[in-house]
Amino acid sequence: MNTTGDKPDRYAVVGHPIDHSRSPVIHQVFATQTEQHIVYELIDAAPEAFETAVRGFAAAGGKGLNVTVPHKQAAFELSNELGPEAQKARAVNTISFRPDGRIRGDNTDGIGFMRDLTETLDEPVAGRRVLVLGAGGAARGILLPLVEAAPAALVLANRTIERADGMIAELDSTEILSASTFAALADEAPFDIVINATSAGVRGEDLPFPTPCVGPETLCYDLAYSLKDTPFVLWARANGAREAAQGWGMLVEQAAESFYIWRGVRPDTAPVLQQLRR
Ligand code: NDP
Repeated sequence: MNTTGDKPDRYAVVGHPIDHSRSPVIHQVFATQTEQHIVYELIDAAPEAFETAVRGFAAAGGKGLNVTVPHKQAAFELSNELGPEAQKARAVNTISFRPDGRIRGDNTDGIGFMRDLTETLDEPVAGRRVLVLGAGGAARGILLPLVEAAPAALVLANRTIERADGMIAELDSTEILSASTFAALADEAPFDIVINATSAGVRGEDLPFPTPCVGPETLCYDLAYSLKDTPFVLWARANGAREAAQGWGMLVEQAAESFYIWRGVRPDTAPVLQQLRR
């Protein structure tokens, strides 16, 4: 067993709200599997309490934090050094506390998403038409890895078009990237891959996406996950998508990458995914 003294190393996830997070279960299973001596806690911090929560956890001996909604951009601002993915996404979901007190920020959302999409689901991106719905923190993490996978076209659609325009302007790939409103998607042919990175539908409201963007060849991927079918998965099936997946795989893969950053060992994600889905 890997220990640094008798006490386990402390990690946590910080968000608001946080009570439904699966991260403690996932990291504890990883730790058992790889024989790492850690504890993993939940920290609920409203935006105004975020920095105090992070610095307080470090002062109490914490080794690292996962960061979730709504703090990923605040964590980016707080970091003293950044991994390349965090730098490009301008969002941090993994904090490591350096022994000298510096805060290191990484972003594992994009790696986790691409691993699930291209390896587990075996869905290639190169040469295909991809639609990302939503331009919030999660879209920020997946956009650049998608661009780097060389799709034929990548459309970023958002309710607030200025946010999609702003994200695209930060990337130097305008020949394949374009922004769209949801309404303008009605004029598009079906996409090969449609990714839902919005939180639309969570309160039972109808989804605002036009149906022509999905066809019988389309893979739909919902970043959201639930033990039931998510509203987007139901919408995708109702509109004849070839396949509709939820974000469980991304959740576990991004956690595995954070665990690797902290502990230097890579856990096996497949049994954890099976356990969570049960
Ligand atoms: P943000 O709050 O940063 O962004 C929310 C996005 O949803 C924005 O684009 C917003 O549009 C849009 N939106 C919200 N409500 C509506 C609505 N009623 N109609 C249309 N658009 C709407 O959230 P995140 O980006 O962090 O998270 C998005 C989703 O991804 C969540 O479901 C989250 O759980 C999931 N996620 C999953 C992960 C995983 O590991 N599987 C990892 C990270 C996120 P606007 O800009 O106009 O406000």
